[in-house]
Amino acid sequence: ITDVRESMYLVSEFAKDYFNKTLLNSEEGKAIGLSYFKERGFTNETIKKFSLGYSPETWDALTKEALGKGYKLEFLESTGLTIAREDRPFDRFKGRVMFPIESMSGRVLGFGGRILTNDKKAAKYLNSPESDIYHKSKVLYGIYQAKQAIAKQNNCYLVEGYTDVIQFHQAGIENVVASSGTALTPDQIRLVNRLTRNITVLFDGDAAGLRAAIRGIDLILEEGMNVRVCAFPDGEDPDSFARKNSHDDLVAYLEENSKDFIQFKASILMKEANNDPIKKADLIRDMVTSISKIPDRIQREVYTQECARIMDISEQVLVSTLAQLLQKDL
Ligand code: ATP
Ligand code: MN
Ligand code: MN
Ligand code: MN
Repeated sequence: ITDVRESMYLVSEFAKDYFNKTLLNSEEGKAIGLSYFKERGFTNETIKKFSLGYSPETWDALTKEALGKGYKLEFLESTGLTIAREDRPFDRFKGRVMFPIESMSGRVLGFGGRILTNDKKAAKYLNSPESDIYHKSKVLYGIYQAKQAIAKQNNCYLVEGYTDVIQFHQAGIENVVASSGTALTPDQIRLVNRLTRNITVLFDGDAAGLRAAIRGIDLILEEGMNVRVCAFPDGEDPDSFARKNSHDDLVAYLEENSKDFIQFKASILMKEANNDPIKKADLIRDMVTSISKIPDRIQREVYTQECARIMDISEQVLVSTLAQLLQKDL
């Protein structure tokens, strides 16, 4: 680790503590930030576990405090906490509740900050910019808090957002991480792969969530991992669903509705295909494409059999289609 990166870690750690103290101790933080978190049902324990915070409305509150404590402007800027302006540098995050993003070993890499209103025009979340310590495509929110549970359960729930991760922890499910606003990447999947070979994708019950899940499936298969998928009711995300249900009901829901990717594609996409033979053919091709991503030959064979059975089509034709696809990849 270079001195530069170490300095960036230190100032990020300072900012985490500053935002957390501001949330818990300042009048503004308590009135605005803390009451927001309470409304979302977050407990004090949760706030502590995830080091949640609040950034005040003031133009340069954090910057001033950090400079006063001897942190260098250079590192405030390179972490993106401060935005350079010749005469007067200012804070990136103002009037937001803050979610520190941590590495597998618990170092603060960056932040996500949420506005407190549901103003559809303003960007809901603002994130730290890419930096020498924060590479969006290589981090998963919650991995530090989840790693032991992931290894122990030998499964990882993958969700979209910060609050989904947090609400699951409150519901007693700790093997959960979020891709947080970026489309899932191979590096993120490899991070999970160090802990388990099994991922269950939980996506928001909307069109964007469905698209993200379908894209994620092939990427996870390509890494040689097992992927299951669980859909939520229309308009619900893991956060809202967990809030509305007891721990036992949530666990039961996940158990009953998690399907392997072939069953998932069959159930979701069959509805769209609506018995139209052309669409059904497209769907089968889509499934075979997913199967072709699996590196292990035996697994490919098992899924090909399952696909043939579910879609009521001869295995032979699937095998030859699969062979064509694999040929193309060579
Ligand atoms: P909330 O429950 O707080 O409204 P959410 O997590 O359900 O938020 P979604 O709209 O489902 O939010 O988005 C999922 C994730 O995508 C967010 O948690 C966040 O990490 C990221 N995200 C959403 N909107 C933005 C944005 N405007 N800029 C950057 N990231 C975003
Ligand atoms: Mn969403
Ligand atoms: Mn959501
Ligand atoms: Mn949500």
